[in-house]
Amino acid sequence: MPGIKQSISMSSLSSIDRSDVGMSYLTQCTKNSATSSQTQREDGHSAGIQQRNAHTTDTYKRDASGNLLHKKKKRKRHLITANLTGTRYEVVRQMAEKVGFTITREDDMLSYVIWNDSFISMERISELKPYQKINHFPGMAEVTRKDNLARNFMKIQKSLPEDFGFVPKTWILPAEHGQLQNYAKELKARKKMKTFIIKPSNGAQGHGIILHRNAEKIPPTEHFIVQQYIDKPLLLDGYKFDLRVYVLVTSTDPLRVFLFNDGLVRLSTEKYLPPHESNLNRLYMHLTNYSVNKHNEHYEKSSSVDSGSKRSIRYLNDFLRKNDIDVAKLWRKISDMIVKTMLVAQPHVLHSYRMCRPGSSHGADSVCFEVLGFDVLIDGKLKPWLLEINRSPSFNTDERIDYDIKSALIEDTFRLLNIKQSDKRRNLAAQKAEAQKRLFRTGKKVEVDITEIEKHKVSIERRKEELKELLSRVRKTAAREEFENKNCGRFRRIFPCEDKARQEKYCSLLSSSFSVFMGGRGTTMQKEIQITYNNKYREDDILDMIAECEADEKEGKVFTGAGTRPRLPKPLMSMPECGVTAQDDEEDDDDEASENFSPPLTANSGRHASFSPTSRSRSQSLSSVQRADGHSSQKSPGSQPNSDNVKTALRSGSNTSDETNLEQHAQGSRSRSHSRMSTTQHSATVLQKSDDNILLSMVKEREEELTHKTLNALNEMRIKFPGKTDQEADILLDKV
Ligand code: ADP
Repeated sequence: MPGIKQSISMSSLSSIDRSDVGMSYLTQCTKNSATSSQTQREDGHSAGIQQRNAHTTDTYKRDASGNLLHKKKKRKRHLITANLTGTRYEVVRQMAEKVGFTITREDDMLSYVIWNDSFISMERISELKPYQKINHFPGMAEVTRKDNLARNFMKIQKSLPEDFGFVPKTWILPAEHGQLQNYAKELKARKKMKTFIIKPSNGAQGHGIILHRNAEKIPPTEHFIVQQYIDKPLLLDGYKFDLRVYVLVTSTDPLRVFLFNDGLVRLSTEKYLPPHESNLNRLYMHLTNYSVNKHNEHYEKSSSVDSGSKRSIRYLNDFLRKNDIDVAKLWRKISDMIVKTMLVAQPHVLHSYRMCRPGSSHGADSVCFEVLGFDVLIDGKLKPWLLEINRSPSFNTDERIDYDIKSALIEDTFRLLNIKQSDKRRNLAAQKAEAQKRLFRTGKKVEVDITEIEKHKVSIERRKEELKELLSRVRKTAAREEFENKNCGRFRRIFPCEDKARQEKYCSLLSSSFSVFMGGRGTTMQKEIQITYNNKYREDDILDMIAECEADEKEGKVFTGAGTRPRLPKPLMSMPECGVTAQDDEEDDDDEASENFSPPLTANSGRHASFSPTSRSRSQSLSSVQRADGHSSQKSPGSQPNSDNVKTALRSGSNTSDETNLEQHAQGSRSRSHSRMSTTQHSATVLQKSDDNILLSMVKEREEELTHKTLNALNEMRIKFPGKTDQEADILLDKV
């Protein structure tokens, strides 16, 4: 390859530093035009500050002798601010400005976006305000450090070798030196020869990497890993190459992963030959790192899309297509590999994230995001191998190709983060509401000798609250998806994925991942996984369920003891899978019910009631529910998911016809719930009603007492209201 002559000895490779790069393409492009951000950084001021200062209003005041005084008054502006002092990449700064962010000073700890090239402590993450976003997740090192990646994959491969066999066999030194020796002996016995690559556990840019043919001679050096060398890679023009694939994680609670539709193809600079004792030290042949190969005299800067030592993934796809390779299939495999890797990371990342953000509710805006660089090697059989994951991929823009890809990546990342000026205010309000809710919850703990009826009422309330939370979660997810679909740019969401079968498979793998890494605690995640990622609830179904609760509440049906158990809606988490009783459906004597529901099934048949196609939303309701024994389970493939399960859950605990007869559902255009009072039971219910009224008034009295206690507690706590003095706060509280 012709190119810039710049020779360097192999021994000096290890001393190459990231900063040791030529003038970047970006700098060249922007040097003469002296970009605003560049200039602003040099004189210590950011665009944001200048812009903000520009937004002032003039006011005039007279002094004692009547002279007009000119006073500049700052007008409060809500700007989306970005603190980028932690990154050395100019392209990040440029894209931040392009999307309209205002770049702030180093000491601005409250900016909306914080971008840092290096590690962020958990403490820093826990200090973030809910509207802020920082570009790293805690716990991600579990897959971004080579030794951690190897350890975690070893664990999961034990349970699921078929699904996670895309990381080359790896040994962590010195702990697994013995196993490596055994493997070497095994190979020797089978007269097989393999090559091994030895890398520093926390290395990067090809530093300190060597190849070995005889594993028996590899010393147990600390902080190194040994990996089986993939010796038959796919070649491009005779050169070995690897891919730098960019992945964006916008949230871990819930997990959302996006794949960028372009990236870099990095070629080695010496034609590839299978490893042999004589060529093991030729790193320009065996390593594909830009940081290594740029020092070879044969390194070729890319002048067009189809030449040079760095090319784009788009180019590679075209090239492969022309060579009759199924590109879509290859990318399905790569995407699958990425998702599975994120599923391995998820227990660690979620755990760390929740430790940092204990008060944050599920589905709340994430304060972290991360752009990860996956290094992928494709072998001659078109199998992708995961070599490593970089949590701070280089955003150097030495060549035009770098700039084109990385600027698009960062711009789309900023856009997908969905940062709005109103986030600050909204989050403040949400925080306040949450604090009040917590206070209210504490108030409820005052219930000391609560009666059965009260328990019943409280239980319905809780159920309703739970449903409302679920409703808000479903709505939030829908809104989030709508935003993502409109604003994903060159990203494609790969988890959760649209393909239902694949998504189910991912959910099952995620459950396994939690079990492998969290042990017993992992099992508590199973239900959450199903509800979060495999949820078939629709808004309609939840509204129906809420309406049912409200009907119960209005009716004031209470447990009167003797012989019957209270017909309580059970919490969502413990829905029985097949608790639809014969009576439940037999008693659906209403026209609409008989229209929408198929004939009843017996309670003990273990089958589910099915729906006619007219009840669309219902038929999509539950996919996974809880068995009566408390274990969550997937529905059998033959069974129709339907909201009868939901209704059954609402009625759970009511195995007798008496209880189901008492059921009355809410009415209204949305709700398709019905009154179901059987005539045989009617008179008994009427008698019961008068008792109910007395009991209801008792409940009401008790409720008032509790409210009183809560208000007293509030008063004692001297709640602070933002922007109000203590006196004003007192007045407000008095009003309450
Ligand atoms: P670093 O973080 O130092 O870049 P990598 O694991 O990415 O370390 O390895 C550097 C390069 O070495 C890769 O880009 C690839 O070309 C080559 N390489 C690494 N591991 C293997 C492997 N198991 N088989 C073949 N080549 C490998």
